[in-house]
This record gives sequence, C-alpha cells and structure tokens, in this order.
Amino acid sequence: MSRPAIAHIRLDALRHNYRVAKHLHGGKALAVIKANAYGHGAVHCAKAIEGEADGFAVACLEEALQLREAGIPEPILLLEGFFEALELPEIVANNLWIVVHAQWQVEILLAAKLAKPLHVWLKMDSGMHRVGLSPIEYSQAFERLNNHKNVAKIVMMTHFANADNVSSNHTLQQIEIFQKVTQGLSTETSLANSAAILGWKQAKCLGDTKNQWTRPGIMLYGADPLMNAETKLKPVMQLTSKIISIRSIKQGESIGYGSIFTAERDTIVGIVACGYADGYPRSAVTGTPMAVDGEMTRLIGRVSMDMLFVDLTDIPNATIGSLVELWGNQVSANVVAKSAGTIAYELFCNVKRAHFQYFDAANI
Ligand SMILES: *Cc1c(COP(=O)(O)O)cnc(C)c1O
Repeated sequence: MSRPAIAHIRLDALRHNYRVAKHLHGGKALAVIKANAYGHGAVHCAKAIEGEADGFAVACLEEALQLREAGIPEPILLLEGFFEALELPEIVANNLWIVVHAQWQVEILLAAKLAKPLHVWLKMDSGMHRVGLSPIEYSQAFERLNNHKNVAKIVMMTHFANADNVSSNHTLQQIEIFQKVTQGLSTETSLANSAAILGWKQAKCLGDTKNQWTRPGIMLYGADPLMNAETKLKPVMQLTSKIISIRSIKQGESIGYGSIFTAERDTIVGIVACGYADGYPRSAVTGTPMAVDGEMTRLIGRVSMDMLFVDLTDIPNATIGSLVELWGNQVSANVVAKSAGTIAYELFCNVKRAHFQYFDAANI
C-alpha cells in the first residue's frame, strides 16, 4: 500500500459552485483559479468549466501561461497585471487581460510599443488600502488610458476588505466611493468576490448586470466565507487518509510531541498518515473534528509532520486501514480552519504531497 493521504477533487462540484455563483449574481463571472486553483489544480479546474466560464483570473503570467499551454482559450485576467515592462509582449502574444492597479503601471502601459492594444481592468482602492489607484488618481488615469492606442477597453474594478463581515458597513462605503468616482466613465464594472456574491446584494447595483463581472474564488471550492451552514455550495476537496497504527493509553498518559494531550480517561488512539507536511495545519487544537469510517470524532495531541492522532475511544469498530476524513464532506474545511486559527483558503492552498485524484460525474 502506498501512502494513503489523498486529496479527492470533485470537478462536478466545482462546476455546480460556478453555476451557483453566476446565478446568484446574474452577470458574468471570472473563475478565480490563482495559486493553482487554491491548491486544487488549476488546469483540471479550468478544464472542468471550460466552454462555460466567462473567463479565468490568476495572479501572474506564469499561472496564465500554464493554462494557455493546456489549451484553455477563454479570457484570462492577471489580477496584479504586469510586474515589469518586459512581460508586456508575452501578455499581448497570449491574449491576456491585465489589472492596472498603480500609477507606475499606467505610465509603462502608456509608453509601451505593443503589437495589439490590451484589455485593461483599472482597479480603484475604494477602502481596502492594498493596491489600486486612489479615488483622486482614478478618473485621471481613466481619461489617459481611455481611447489610447494601447488600450482596447477598460473594465472598472475594486476589491472589498470586509465583505465576509455582514455586520460591517465598510462594504457599502466602498461601493459608494466606487460609484461616485466611476459615474459616467466605462459601462463595465467588477466588484464582487465570493463573500460579496453571497452576502451583499448591493454589490450588484451598478446598472445592467450583463456588464458586470464577479470574481468568485473560494466559493468555487465549496467553502462559504460567510460560514453560512445553509449554503448551496458543494465541497470540492475531500482530504482523506488511513489509520496506520492503534494503541491504548491509560488515563493520565500523554501522547505525541510536547505531550500536550493527556488522557482524561482510558483512550484508544489511532495514528493517521497525514501531517503538516501534507497541509493539515499544525496549529489545529485537540477537539478539531474528523471522521473515521463515517463517524465523527476528534483530533487529539499535536499534529506532526507525517502523522496525527485521532480519538477512537467511541469508535470500537475502527481498525488499521479505516478511512479518515480530515475535511471534505462530513468535516467542514471552515470548521477545521477555525479550529486552527486560519481560513479554508489557507488550508486548501497548503495541501501537498498527498496524491491528487480527480473525479467528474459528467453533465452535472
Ligand atoms: C483572490 C481574489 C478574488 C477571489 O476572492 P474570494 O474571496 O476567493 O472569492 C477576487 N478578486 C481579487 C482581486 C482577488 O485577488
């Protein structure tokens, strides 16, 4: 038996989630598959919605080229645009779209000699204060780029800092600033990430939805950033492994590095072939949920590089080779993330070494 840590990827679930995102918003949707599709495998994910997706978004040229080499014909947006002028010929040659988020990029783009004009997403900093032109710089940059020989068209975009917090009014403030500055400029806009699609109907108030682009990321992978249990999303990744050893410890005995778990009762302990080198978070605390042969139980002790401990005391039928779900269908990645002090985004991105297996129930 080879090492049993496996990331099962349901491409039909990804397709379902893409449709949910599109349906909820009503406009066009760029599937965000940066960072290797949040760890799920960018080429597989892109192929699963090829022909259906309005386009894809990635972080950089290298990620886009991987998709072009795999034969993906749809539009691909570089979310941070170019990092230096030297990238421009390749961006043009591969028919990629660029975000322009800083004044230095505006200057380079205006001065460049390009074989063809580029499709630009001009990004405003409406309150996140990470990248984007300030509301004051924005209209001037728009005027300079609009109808310039290097620019095919402009989509106006911004990004929310707190869309996953429905009790914060920051999102509405950002929308207001964006609307005020962009009034009367281009007709195409792009505001909503997953959290805004799921939580902020106001994020689609800007005119005709067919001219609006959403940018769903995490929701494509089935994790609801608002942690709404009623979500219609389907988990895409199921991370599983198997029990490779079982031992009984007496009340008062401890297990693992640092002996951080001490048994309060006589305990049956399963050793699972999955550790932080596979992407299971080392920061996950005792009590983090886990399922063994379909029965819910908990992580105990400290996660090590290649192995972790599961409490089998109440699962007497568990045996060597029993299947353990670390997250996926029964165990919510959001819950595991929370229990490890992080977010599902990071859990997914960190999965490695585990074997990836892809499933696709066609036509779903
Ligand atoms: C990553 C990213 C997204 C997707 O965000 P999710 O929260 O995963 O939906 C959308 N827009 C931009 C600019 C991003 O960088």
